[in-house]
Amino acid sequence: MKTFQDLGLSKPILQALAQEGYETPTPIQTQAIPLVASGRDLLGIAQTGTGKTAAFALPMLHRLAADRKAPLPRTCRALILSPTRELASQIAESFKSYGRNLGMSVAVVFGGVKYGPQERAMSRGVDVLVATPGRLLDHMSQKTIDVSATEIFVLDEADQMLDLGFVKPIRQVVSKLSKNRQNLFFSATMPGEIGKLAAELLKDPAKVEVKPAATTAEKVEQQVLFVEQVRKRALLSELFSDPKFTRTLVFTKTKHGADKVAAYLEAGGVEAAAIHGNKSQSQRERALQAFKDGRVRALVATDIAARGIDVDGVTHVVNFELPYVPEAYVHRIGRTARAGASGVAVSLVADDERKLLKDIQRVTRQTIPSWDRRNDRALGALDAAILAANPGRKAKTPEPVEQPRGHGRPKRDRTHHAEGAPRAKYDPMAGEFGAAKPEGGRPEGQRAPKRGGSYRPKRRRFGQGGGGGGGGGQGRRTAAD
Ligand code: AMP
Repeated sequence: MKTFQDLGLSKPILQALAQEGYETPTPIQTQAIPLVASGRDLLGIAQTGTGKTAAFALPMLHRLAADRKAPLPRTCRALILSPTRELASQIAESFKSYGRNLGMSVAVVFGGVKYGPQERAMSRGVDVLVATPGRLLDHMSQKTIDVSATEIFVLDEADQMLDLGFVKPIRQVVSKLSKNRQNLFFSATMPGEIGKLAAELLKDPAKVEVKPAATTAEKVEQQVLFVEQVRKRALLSELFSDPKFTRTLVFTKTKHGADKVAAYLEAGGVEAAAIHGNKSQSQRERALQAFKDGRVRALVATDIAARGIDVDGVTHVVNFELPYVPEAYVHRIGRTARAGASGVAVSLVADDERKLLKDIQRVTRQTIPSWDRRNDRALGALDAAILAANPGRKAKTPEPVEQPRGHGRPKRDRTHHAEGAPRAKYDPMAGEFGAAKPEGGRPEGQRAPKRGGSYRPKRRRFGQGGGGGGGGGQGRRTAAD
C-alpha cells in the first residue's frame, strides 16, 4: 500500500499532512497525485468525500513550490473554480492547511460579499485563487484579476456547475486563460454536456475514477448510537451481550485505541483480538484465524490493518470512532453484508464526531437512524463493574449532557434499536437530528420491542473471564421492557 511519501510529495507537504493527521492516501489520492505532479491533465470522476480536494491540492502545491516565483500583481498561478461559496471556502482552507509550510498565498472570491477585501487580497498577486464563476467574471471585467498567467486550472464539481447554469461563465473564464496550462477536471457524473466541456478543456488527460460511495452503503443496515466518548467502551461491551454479534469487526482510529478496546472487551468477557500495523505478521495471522474460527467474536482493527482482511460472514461492523474520510466509512461497512448475506453496521458517535457523521450522510446520500445513549447510567454502571473486576483500570465519568426539555430524567435502560419504529429525522440543512429521541431511545409513543428481534441491551454478565465477577446485577436484564 502506498504512503504519501511514496507519492513523491515534498517534505513540507508531508509535514503538513502529518499535522493534519492524514496517515494514508485515499484511492483517488494514490491515483491522482503522481499524475498531477507530473504535469498531466486529469479527468477525475469522483465526488466529495473521497479526498478529492487533497488529490488535486497536494500535487498542485508540490508543483508550484518546485518552480517558485512571485505572482505578478493581480494575477494567480493556480485557479480553482468551484460551484458554491461553501465549497470554495473549504477548498481554500485545504490549500492553506496543506501549504502551511510552503508560504503560499491563497485567496478566495465568491458572490454575496463585498468586493473591496477580495480586490485587496488579489492586488499583489496570489499563488492560489479559488473562485465561484460569477464573481470571478466580475473581477475580471473590473480588471482586479487577470487570469491569463494561470499555470494550473481546476474545474471542480463540473456536473454541479452545469446544474447551476455555470457552463457559459466557465467558457468565458477559460477563453481568457493561457493556452499553456495544466487542466484538472472533476465531476461526480459525466452527463453529455460535461463530457463535451471536458473534451474541450483537457489535452490528452489521464483518467481516474472512484466508485460512488452511495452504492455499497445501501445494502447494509446502519445505525448510529450517540454516546459520550468515555462511555463508548461500555456501550460496545453491552452490544456484545447480544449473541447475534458473532463475528464483529470493530474499527478504531488508532493502533493504541485498537489495543485498548480489545483489552477492555476481554476484561468484560468478550473474546477479542486487535490487529494493526504494530503487530507482527504471525500475531496478525493468529488473530485473523481465531476470528475466522469463531474463537474470537470481536476483531478490533484500524482501517489500514483491515484492508488486508477478507473474512466472510462478518455479522456486524462497529465503528468505535468514525473515520475522517466518508469513503472509509463505506469501505468499513462493506465488510459485512457480503455475498448477499445480511449485515449491520453500528457507529458509536460522540458529540465532536457529528460533523464527520454529517459528511458521511451527505456523501452516502442517506439518513442513518440514530438512538441517543448519552447520559445513560446503565453504561456507567457497566463500566464500573468491568473496572471493578479489573482493578488496574480507571473509571471515567462523562460530563452530563443537557437533556432536551420535556423528556425528564434519564431512565435506566435505553433500548436503542426498536424494530419498525419511526426513525429520527435528520435535517441535512441544520446538520442535526431533528426531534430529540425520547429517553428510552424509542420514538415517542412506541412500545418497547419484544425480545428476539434485532439486538438490544441486556444486562450482561459482568466480569466473565475478567477474574472474579463484577458488581450487582449479574445476568439480570434491565426493566425497560
Ligand atoms: P473531500 O473529498 O476532499 O471533500 O475530503 C473529505 C474529507 O476527508 C475532508 O474532511 C478531508 O480533510 C479528509 N481527508 C482527505 N484525505 C484524507 C486522508 N488521506 N486522510 C485523512 N483524511 C483525509
